[in-house]
Amino acid sequence: MTTVIDGKAVAADLREKVAQAVAKIKEEHNVQPALAVVLVGEDPASQVYVRNKHTATEKSGMRSIEHKLPETTREEDVVALVRNLNEDPEVDGILVQLPLPKHISSDRVLNEIHPDKDVDGLTEVNAGRLMLGKDGLVPCTPQGSVILAKTVKENLSGLKAVVVGRSILVGKPLAMLLLAENCTVTMAHSRTKDLAAVCREADILCAAVGIPRLIKGDWVKKGAIVIDVGINRIEEDGKKRLVGDVDYGAAKDAAAAITPVPGGVGPMTIACLLRNTVLAAARRRGLGAVE
Ligand code: NDP
Repeated sequence: MTTVIDGKAVAADLREKVAQAVAKIKEEHNVQPALAVVLVGEDPASQVYVRNKHTATEKSGMRSIEHKLPETTREEDVVALVRNLNEDPEVDGILVQLPLPKHISSDRVLNEIHPDKDVDGLTEVNAGRLMLGKDGLVPCTPQGSVILAKTVKENLSGLKAVVVGRSILVGKPLAMLLLAENCTVTMAHSRTKDLAAVCREADILCAAVGIPRLIKGDWVKKGAIVIDVGINRIEEDGKKRLVGDVDYGAAKDAAAAITPVPGGVGPMTIACLLRNTVLAAARRRGLGAVE
């Protein structure tokens, strides 16, 4: 029997743990952790993401601070805002919603965020810390992917992991996290030769590509754990649908466990963002360890 990994339930559990940590910090230190989100422009998908983050942050007991700037905002002004948030003692986490309008360099803006407030884990410092195996803030989607894999098998040590996709946001940090779990990691990408054969080697197969159902059922080794990060909007039989990068119906037969889309990795991203924010608050304010 294949286990369908319930990302919604795991995310709800994590959000509850965060809420408990927030309550403890409030009670013991009279501190309410705060997340500041910067949104530039009117991108409809980004507006939805920011709204969801706002609601989840408040539900966890943390303070949510929103800065919505017009599309025409100059890069210098976004940088100035980030610098102000860096200096603000009340702000624990800073998230700049991507994508930024084309005239603004996201690279420059992201690297202005103080690493200890970088709850998206996208600054060079946090990427470096992850690479070096040092404590830092880890990107949310890869973090959520590993948590889901570990709900199936607590100890991933020695397993062969294949990560398809090598983006800075997902693929690379996911590979680093799996390496930290003592997996033997292969990173595959658009130039990989015989991707099917590479995937068939995987005990843990992670897809973060952005191509609907790229990974076929017969690319999945019997008994593998399949983590599908992809979120693709397609039209099928006249209906709009969300599908992953894995051909779920076919892959499910071979896999021991698989994440569905929607309801798999997706809900973990915001839960891990909340986790990073409370972690950042505790570390930055010297409040001791939180789980
Ligand atoms: P990117 O477009 O940044 O990266 C895609 C990666 O896939 C690249 O490394 C690319 O390789 C690789 N790739 C492209 N085509 C192929 C191919 N034919 N075979 C093998 N590899 C290929 O995407 P992201 O990493 O940002 O996102 C990946 C997916 O995850 C998307 O569907 C996105 O919507 C989803 N996502 C989901 C999130 C969630 O919360 N669940 C959060 C973030 C993303 P190369 O480097 O060689 O070009």
